[in-house]
Amino acid sequence: MTEKPWLTHYPPEIPATIQYGEQPLPLFLTKAAAEYRDKIAIEFLGKKLTYETVYDSALKMAAYLKKIGIKKGDRVAIMLPNSPQAVISFYGVMYAGAVVVQFNPLYKEREIEYQLKDCGAKVMIALDLLYPRIQHIIGNTQLEHTIVTAIKDYLPFPKNILYPLIQKKQTGMVVHIEDRNNNHHFTKIMAGPAVKEELLNINIENDPAVLQYTGGTTGFPKGVILTHKNLVANASMCAAWMYKYRPGAEIILGIIPFFHVYGMTTVMILSVMQGYKMVLLPKFDAKTTLKTIQKQKPTIFPGAPTIYIALLNDPNMKKYDLSSIDACISGSAPLPADIQKKFEDVTGGKLVEGYGLTETSPVTHANFIWGDRIKGSVGVPWPDTDAAIYSMQTNELVERPGELGEIVVKGPQVMKGYWNRPEETEQSFKDGWLLTGDIGYMDENGFFYIVDRKKDIIIAGGFNIYPRDVEEVLYEHEAIQEAVVAGIPDPYRGETVKAYIVLKEGRQVTEKELDDYCRKNLAVYKVPHVYDFREELPKTAVGKILRRVLVDEEKKKMERE
Ligand code: AMP
Repeated sequence: MTEKPWLTHYPPEIPATIQYGEQPLPLFLTKAAAEYRDKIAIEFLGKKLTYETVYDSALKMAAYLKKIGIKKGDRVAIMLPNSPQAVISFYGVMYAGAVVVQFNPLYKEREIEYQLKDCGAKVMIALDLLYPRIQHIIGNTQLEHTIVTAIKDYLPFPKNILYPLIQKKQTGMVVHIEDRNNNHHFTKIMAGPAVKEELLNINIENDPAVLQYTGGTTGFPKGVILTHKNLVANASMCAAWMYKYRPGAEIILGIIPFFHVYGMTTVMILSVMQGYKMVLLPKFDAKTTLKTIQKQKPTIFPGAPTIYIALLNDPNMKKYDLSSIDACISGSAPLPADIQKKFEDVTGGKLVEGYGLTETSPVTHANFIWGDRIKGSVGVPWPDTDAAIYSMQTNELVERPGELGEIVVKGPQVMKGYWNRPEETEQSFKDGWLLTGDIGYMDENGFFYIVDRKKDIIIAGGFNIYPRDVEEVLYEHEAIQEAVVAGIPDPYRGETVKAYIVLKEGRQVTEKELDDYCRKNLAVYKVPHVYDFREELPKTAVGKILRRVLVDEEKKKMERE
């Protein structure tokens, strides 16, 4: 097979290899603050922050973290929606030489506790509304300090007065955080002294910038160590892929969450690296997104299939002027071809599919924005990235295009390993290749296709759900004897969670009771949508429940319908 056949399809503007520079990740912000000082870096619900402000604020955060004892390599947890605070905290933690650990704001106590214990974070920066959840479990973790902020802290007048009222109406909550000992207010830190940036003593190849939690191929939540080099490389590849967009000249829509690796790299890091303006929304809803596009005129709009589907389903979509959108990059789940076409027809912009995973910072493949793209393909490997297909039958890389196997990748964006899990790290590599857990093939032109997953994850609405996470909660229910969870096709979310349950003898429980119970213990996107009560579950000879049999059963049922 030709070496890297995809390179012959690269337009001349995209290099096959890139010079990355040796700077740690936060120096992207230092550079942007020098070059684009008074330019708007962030626009958030009407509040504008210049690059100078974001840079100063990040340095204030770094100074404060150092004051409360954070040292190089310490982990700092961030649990925030997309907001100025999320960006300031992300860069601030890194200016302090510490490691960012992102938490999904939808996490419930047990999920927060697990991740905090695993990463050993000493400080957490969180939204006020999430604080009650953290407060409950602080005692079980190594957490020494919390820094709390509210959405209103970064809203212009009069929204900053009105927002808490709306929030109270929607959530019934007003959170008062006492600013003492171990609780700190974000706004007070921002009112503190600005410090000079100190030169970071960072080894970019080895020092982690971020621990990004994922189930990986074995489905057990673990922290992916992404080094400064990993993230600098992936953001640089992204900039190279989008070569027509000039630094300092674009507006990027920040809807995909920054706590997920995809939003983190392709919006929060890329935007600062390129001096773009980020238009942020704290949560996705179709109407606000459409209004924001019309008003703010973003040119770049990274998203996930569910986001594009939700916009297309909005009956008023065509009434909005969406013509500013030039390119949308869809990742995290397969993009249906008719959605791609419809979205392009309505906006006049391009919607291209890419692929990657947390372990690869995340992007490894994409279709060309200006050039060849093939529907149904996740595209070709990015610069400096190598990809191949590993045959599960022969235990070797396949020889011919079209042969099916596990997709394996190499490149500077591939993780260093899993945090404190050397065995899992070893198992996820073979001969220097990262095993993705995705099954697919490559055609003779070097375009890759994904046809299945070896790993158990369920991808619902762009969120990854690890069956084991949900099953553990179900097993703790007093009436449940056995439980297994699988992804079943869903027209909107791509997949949704179905739980197969065997009850203990003589016990009864309703779907509603199980739903309430799961909602208390799991982030809402993990909660099963369908329950199937059974007498028994299919098992192997050694008693392992055969999730795959249930998934196939479901697929056949769907085909018949
Ligand atoms: P995450 O680690 O959360 O980024 O999830 C990575 C996984 O999402 C991959 O291993 C794939 O299974 C899936 N994925 C990402 N992009 C795509 C895509 N374009 N098509 C199909 N699956 C995808």
